[in-house]
Amino acid sequence: MDKITISKPDDFHVHFRQGELMKAVLPSTLKWFGRALAMPNLRPKPVLDTRDAKRYRGEITAAAKEAGHPDFEPLMAIQLTDKTKPRGIKHAQQAGVIAAKVYPIGVTTNSDNGVRSLKSCALTLQAMQDCGMVLSLHGEKPGVFCLDREREFLGVLDWLVESFPSLRIVLEHITTFQAVAKVINLPETVAATITVHHLFLTLDDIIGGGLSPHNFCKPVAKRESDREALRHAVLWGNPKFFLGTDSAPHPRDRKECASGCAGVFTAPVAMPLLAQFFEEHAGKNWRKGLEEFSSLHGAKFYGLPKNSGKLTLIRR
Ligand SMILES: [Zn+2]
Repeated sequence: MDKITISKPDDFHVHFRQGELMKAVLPSTLKWFGRALAMPNLRPKPVLDTRDAKRYRGEITAAAKEAGHPDFEPLMAIQLTDKTKPRGIKHAQQAGVIAAKVYPIGVTTNSDNGVRSLKSCALTLQAMQDCGMVLSLHGEKPGVFCLDREREFLGVLDWLVESFPSLRIVLEHITTFQAVAKVINLPETVAATITVHHLFLTLDDIIGGGLSPHNFCKPVAKRESDREALRHAVLWGNPKFFLGTDSAPHPRDRKECASGCAGVFTAPVAMPLLAQFFEEHAGKNWRKGLEEFSSLHGAKFYGLPKNSGKLTLIRR
């Protein structure tokens, strides 16, 4: 099969940045995706409230239009901090913000104003549950040995699910066997995004030979057995798992330096790589599996309609 057509995919986790960098990288997403959830951890000022989200949405929409994609729909998230108020959540939700993202403090790029303790945000989380806003989690526990950070974070999910039984929660860019198992075992309100690069990379691709800064991201790619668990989760067709590329561009000199930034820029190749992955591993119904993972499961979890457009992929 040299040509396939699927419903237009959604990217439920992407970093568009701002200004000239956004203009440079946005077309790589516009080419493949109908919608994308724009991550709020901007520098110097993150997207923290309704006003920030509206401004950022305007910037993305204008750049998309300029690039010839007026139909592209940016999906907006605000960053939840210790200072986010329940009222601010309701206001943002009414303005079309669909998710609030939590970064544990200092855990990744631009997360120094992150949350110290989720438990101290209980009233805000209650407001999110009440108005139907999705909680998006960077699931790593700060201060723990880097390969154990995701596993050590997972415990808080039990508290979240128990305290807020109808709050929808997305554990972002999962990388471990333990995270896959945890998400499967928790109720329907908990889902996870999986990146394309974590289906291909292990830690060996970053530090196993020459140091490969362009494969370095957070959470860092882990063992072969972890990658296998992610692959199984994706190929299984469980609707709890869907695509969020976490495509995260940095200027070359911020990657190739003594203290390189975390982030893998995959937007230009994510869909072709994913199609290749499904064709090689999913058997004869691979087209259906690809479409469910990249175009259907995420929209359903977020309560969004399926994209009306199509994406055709041609082998060449
Ligand atoms: Zn990210």
